[in-house]
Amino acid sequence: MKIAVPAETRPGERRVAAVPDTVAPLVAAGHEVVVQAGAGVQSLSDDASYVAVGATVVEGDVLADADVVLHVRPLLPDQISRLRPGAVTVGFLAPSAEPDGVRALRDASVTAFSVELVPRISRAQSMDALTSQALVAGYRCALEAAMRLPRFFPLFMTAAGTVPPARVLVLGAGVAGLQAIATAKRLGAVVEAYDVRPASADEVRSMGATFVQLELEAIEGAGGYAREMAEDRATRQRELLAPYVAKSDVLITTAAVPGRPAPLLVTADMIAAMKPGSVVVDLAAESGGNVEGSVAGEANTVGPVTLVGMADAASAMPTDASRLYAKNLTNLLALMISAEGELVVDLDDEVLAGACVTRDGAVLHEPTRELLE
Ligand code: NAD
Repeated sequence: MKIAVPAETRPGERRVAAVPDTVAPLVAAGHEVVVQAGAGVQSLSDDASYVAVGATVVEGDVLADADVVLHVRPLLPDQISRLRPGAVTVGFLAPSAEPDGVRALRDASVTAFSVELVPRISRAQSMDALTSQALVAGYRCALEAAMRLPRFFPLFMTAAGTVPPARVLVLGAGVAGLQAIATAKRLGAVVEAYDVRPASADEVRSMGATFVQLELEAIEGAGGYAREMAEDRATRQRELLAPYVAKSDVLITTAAVPGRPAPLLVTADMIAAMKPGSVVVDLAAESGGNVEGSVAGEANTVGPVTLVGMADAASAMPTDASRLYAKNLTNLLALMISAEGELVVDLDDEVLAGACVTRDGAVLHEPTRELLE
């Protein structure tokens, strides 16, 4: 079986979908792994490191005769047009944001798996790229805030006086939020956090942070995920959060609702009430923003406050992000390789069925199909 790893082409993307550690076992199992020259350079896997584990490094196109393509960001229509019918692709697909890509995969009769859609069940934890990349992104958000804050995170007691610790507020305590909390705590800040899911309170406390309890009915949707709030409740939530935002030196927002734009948790007025020099980092900037006025990929001054709209947060730490992501992909791919080393896509497997978006010229993922109609 021929497994191809193209170089990522989207601006700002520095990750790669396979690293030498994940390529080696594939080669050992008898598969041919073809890596586009330079694909791993930005994540510190050079061409020689792939050759050393038995991969072939190719200067030109790697897609044309591949059985399987491992990628990070969605393939572009031009790349999809080079795939052969029946080829399998595994990577981020952003089906709701990039419907044209899904149409191209459907029309090319490609079997495309979207890692965003891997079911979040115990058996699939090792394939959960959303989690591995959110971990990197959450860590990165806390560092971004610490670097921009004109004061220390930790308490310092020095001969020249005592410096109080920074107060950090994290809104949204999913995987990224919890990692932001853990990182801010490690740096010595006093951390508070809030989430709509009641189950998150214990997780927040286990990180050593204080859970902010609002007088607002908890909201939890199917499968333990948050669901969207009605506007009056969202307004009430913002009112109740305002005093916590005002007293924090750093605000990190990571709230998301599956399949929906990010909820607006912080208005421009709430930012204006923060102390001079405060830093706001909005991890949700790419999906609409938790903070009014945040722009993905930009750091702006709003009055005396720095507002950072994060973009490509996981890609900013490409080495470890790639290492984890590549492992997620090979774990998912393992479900499609038979004991004889053949590619067998068994859609009775709930993980594969959940993540498969297109196959044999059809869109199998129902919400995406409805979107395309
Ligand atoms: P996410 O990235 O989708 O969202 C981040 C957080 O935002 C969530 O905790 C959500 O509750 C919160 N949020 C949404 N609207 C909000 C609002 N208005 N105010 C405040 N917070 C709001 O979340 P995630 O990290 O993917 O985790 C969400 C759920 O998935 C959790 O139940 C988690 O335990 C579960 N999960 C399961 C697995 C698995 O089983 N493999 C892996 C990861 C996460």
